[in-house]
Amino acid sequence: MSEPKSTITDVPPSSGWNARASLRCVFCGAEAPIGTLPVGCQACDAQPAAPLEVVYDDAGFEPENLKDAIAHLRQFRQPIEGSALVSLGRSASTPLVPVPKLGHDLWVKNETTNATWSHKDRTHEVSVGAARLLGSRGVVASSTGNHGAAAAAHATKAGLPSLVFCHPDASDIAMLMIRAYGGVVAQLPTDDARQLLSDVVDDGWFPATTMDPAVSVKSNPYGAEGYKSIAYEVVEALQRLPATVLVPSASGDTLYGVMKGFADVAELMGGRMPRIVAVPPTGAAPLVLSMEAGHSVRVDDAKSVALSIADPFTGRHALIALQRWGGSAVAVTDDSIVSAVKALAAEGLLVEPASAAGLAGYWDLRDAGQIDTTGPTVLLVTNSGAKWPRELADEFPGSALRTSNEVRAELQRKLAGGER
Ligand SMILES: [Zn+2]
Repeated sequence: MSEPKSTITDVPPSSGWNARASLRCVFCGAEAPIGTLPVGCQACDAQPAAPLEVVYDDAGFEPENLKDAIAHLRQFRQPIEGSALVSLGRSASTPLVPVPKLGHDLWVKNETTNATWSHKDRTHEVSVGAARLLGSRGVVASSTGNHGAAAAAHATKAGLPSLVFCHPDASDIAMLMIRAYGGVVAQLPTDDARQLLSDVVDDGWFPATTMDPAVSVKSNPYGAEGYKSIAYEVVEALQRLPATVLVPSASGDTLYGVMKGFADVAELMGGRMPRIVAVPPTGAAPLVLSMEAGHSVRVDDAKSVALSIADPFTGRHALIALQRWGGSAVAVTDDSIVSAVKALAAEGLLVEPASAAGLAGYWDLRDAGQIDTTGPTVLLVTNSGAKWPRELADEFPGSALRTSNEVRAELQRKLAGGER
């Protein structure tokens, strides 16, 4: 392997930061040094300040095979060194599960097996690692549940306090998890929460939020890099790039990170970039509207059964990711999402509504004859249903039977009807 040449000279290799990485504005291309935490680009006049992304100077590397390529990406295309990650032991890949009953060459990337039952563990491994390197006083996040629980878990692992501003309808279990991890749970009016989040970041807390200050007031460019490993693991499991990947989407960090990961592999191995389809719910689809308009569009009264992806606006980096790497966005109805929750449960996978959006999107594409059958299709299933008992109780009503006769009658009914 040829040794990549670094243009970054002011970061010693032992700092914990990747000396081959730097920050770059997604709009104007101005660079900023790695290991800093500016609120968006300070060089151009975008309002709010433009998102910064991490870029890597590892030109010249030519992998001999896929294994070689993935090993290189894991080591050299992360903003912080492996030893600086805050890990809850997520060393193994999450499962890639075939679901042939649901579709031809269809696979589920099951992220519910992470430590906090969510793909969010991936972003906080990196962002809380960055917080620790920066000497942050604590970690602050905004969340409907999954993001905050993962932030608090990684913060306590790093020995840092956490503060999570929770949505009014946030998952009770997620809020319990945050408290169990020693975090502070706050449910404030939106404007108060945004102001206080901004204040505590100014006071030295790390914003474990999104890439785009337009979404989260204070942003960090590092966390989204953690999602790239989803793509690396999918390629490792399939031993090829998939043809299509469906990603439940809201603020856009997951979408950006997953797309960047596949683009990394396609670049190094010379394969075709998978078609990435972002899937928001129809009641909160700012990404679809923004793609149509060509700029960020806010949705008033955003609402969906899929609360985790029912955001009123999306990050500008999500739009750029779809444009840069050739993706698309399709909105799905709440009815279709609920059907997808049930279909995944019938496969033994209990997921929250937002996590079933990918399957709902798959159905829409399949019905329109738009599934590429030349390669595998992967559904990203992001979060477990375990945090959302209230929402799932509506979809799976019933109670335990209390007499032997009731049980016998129910078994008869199941066997006669051929039901599960
Ligand atoms: Zn700029």
